Amino acid sequence: MERTYNFSAGPAMLPREVLEQARDELLNWHDCGLSVMEMTHRGKDFSAIIAQAEADLRELLGVPANYKVLFLQGGATMQFAQIPLNLLAGRSADYLVTGAWSKKAFKEAQKVGSARLVATTEASNFTRLPAASELEFDPDAAYLHVCSNETVHGVEIHDLSAFRTSATIVADMSSHILSRPVDIGQYGLIYGGAQKNIGPAGLTLVIVREDLLGRAPTNLPTMLDYAVQAEHGSMLNTPPTYSIYVAGLVFQWLKKQGGLAAMEQTNIAKAKLLYQAIDNSGLYHNPVEPACRSRMNVPFTLNKPGLEELFVAEAKKQNIVSIKGHKMVGGMRASIYNAMPPQGVQALVDFMQDFERRHG
Ligand code: PMP
Repeated sequence: MERTYNFSAGPAMLPREVLEQARDELLNWHDCGLSVMEMTHRGKDFSAIIAQAEADLRELLGVPANYKVLFLQGGATMQFAQIPLNLLAGRSADYLVTGAWSKKAFKEAQKVGSARLVATTEASNFTRLPAASELEFDPDAAYLHVCSNETVHGVEIHDLSAFRTSATIVADMSSHILSRPVDIGQYGLIYGGAQKNIGPAGLTLVIVREDLLGRAPTNLPTMLDYAVQAEHGSMLNTPPTYSIYVAGLVFQWLKKQGGLAAMEQTNIAKAKLLYQAIDNSGLYHNPVEPACRSRMNVPFTLNKPGLEELFVAEAKKQNIVSIKGHKMVGGMRASIYNAMPPQGVQALVDFMQDFERRHG
């Protein structure tokens, strides 16, 4: 069966091999007579699934031993509140606002505690990262929050050292986690919703340094307390078992691809192909400064008015779907996560060039 090239920002494409394996194991996982969906999370079978998923993730990301891996729910959006609730401990946190998602995180933190703006690039329509001269860090901040890949605006932090502060760094990596190697030791906490590069929606990943646990106020609801979740191995209540299982298959697939260093090379090549096609055309335009363009989310506009609907409709005929941009920035957006094969990006570029010849 032919599958479409799905450029959705999330839920996004999953590797075909992962879907095939999930299909093959759907009714009867490893001859246990059950689907993973039907399994008790307290039994030995699911315990093995979650333990293997965690071990593979730790290996892929090189997670140091003094970090906990938590498989939670509520999406990255829940983390916008859960992070300050757990880490502020009566202090204030610094927020770098570089796009729609970090802006939301900042607003939510202000609702539950004290949060301060380090810099915002909103006046430049979030098309760049702030320069060092624009940054005003609070030396006493409980942490600095960044969104290392802005999914809507297509801005990625390629070099964290530009934002070096004495504060613990917390990063929303929802839309580029596992797309490249990362030095976890530079962060106190990283997090992300699963539905882009990890697996199906419903699972939220948090990786947190152990010394940050246990700072939550005693009246924090139990479900929101990282320390309690860590103590219970992410099984304080019923976890999103099927999403964890599929995420585990994705981790094994990533290892087979050669791990994150190999994935990064493929992602660089895919992004380069698409940005070059945009930059060399007279019809398409990406407004983001080249040094901070995202390898995962590539927004672009069409310079000629009235062509957007036609672009989307004609793309669909070429098996290219979910290409319409976020309403906040308009135009188109191609999300090219790990599971988007290079042939998918090539198909998009071929279509864009053909469309421009006919309508540009
Ligand atoms: N942060 C980023 C960078 C995102 O891209 C998204 C979702 N698109 C979110 C947070 C919110 O994630 P969720 O829907 O899992 O709450």
